[in-house]
Amino acid sequence: MKLYMATDMEGASGVTQELMTFADQPRYQEGRRALTGDINAAVRGARAGGATEIIVGDGHGACGGYNVIFEELEDGAQYHLGSPGQCYADGCDESTDLAFLIAYHAKAGSWPAILDHTQSSRAIVDLRANGEVLGELGWTAAVCGHFGVPVGLVTGDDATCAEARELLGEVVTAQVKRARSRTSAICLAPGDARRLIEEKAREAVERAGEFTPFVIEAPITVRVQYLRTEMAQGWRRRKDVEMIDARTVEYEAANAFEAMQIYAGYA
Ligand SMILES: [Zn+2]
Repeated sequence: MKLYMATDMEGASGVTQELMTFADQPRYQEGRRALTGDINAAVRGARAGGATEIIVGDGHGACGGYNVIFEELEDGAQYHLGSPGQCYADGCDESTDLAFLIAYHAKAGSWPAILDHTQSSRAIVDLRANGEVLGELGWTAAVCGHFGVPVGLVTGDDATCAEARELLGEVVTAQVKRARSRTSAICLAPGDARRLIEEKAREAVERAGEFTPFVIEAPITVRVQYLRTEMAQGWRRRKDVEMIDARTVEYEAANAFEAMQIYAGYA
């Protein structure tokens, strides 16, 4: 049983502010520790549930995609550290049985939701697939879905868990905090949060056969709306991209994987 674990940081236990998620901020080390603790709990649970091969992707954008505290990581998994990788969700492919989304956050515009954003809190207003607004949770699930891999577990705040259930239907969630605004939440104590994640990770692996891959109907029309016009400027050089307005671009992709490869600049 091969598991791919996509991770972010905003949804980690106890994280409520950008002071903990940006590498140049004073409390970033606490964010790293929180993320590492959540990942370790998920790895322990997944192994207890029967996962024999686990690849964990360090997906949060800060610090060159190297956010975990390596020396504190749980044994029994492999860790993909540093970015950019070869592709979006690097390490998830047709040989993978199940995916987890650990420490994820709600899509841009969600409320109340801890550090809601989509791809970049500084640059992106929203990202649509065939007219539907999709957050990072949705895009990651769609890329996994492209490889036939369903998402079995999502961890984060209440808004993230609700978004996961609405989008994916049957999925296990571990809610480690309840958002009261974009930067405040009622949080489970660290030990309680990790016990919950471990228990839910085990359950998700044991129920792996019950989940369905999330697939977006192809071809996919991707629309990216930026906050300001200069953020969209780089796209103007591309012939296969349509400028909807000065800060909104649209392009077509054959599938979710290609959609994110183009977005990330790899295609
Ligand atoms: Zn992040």
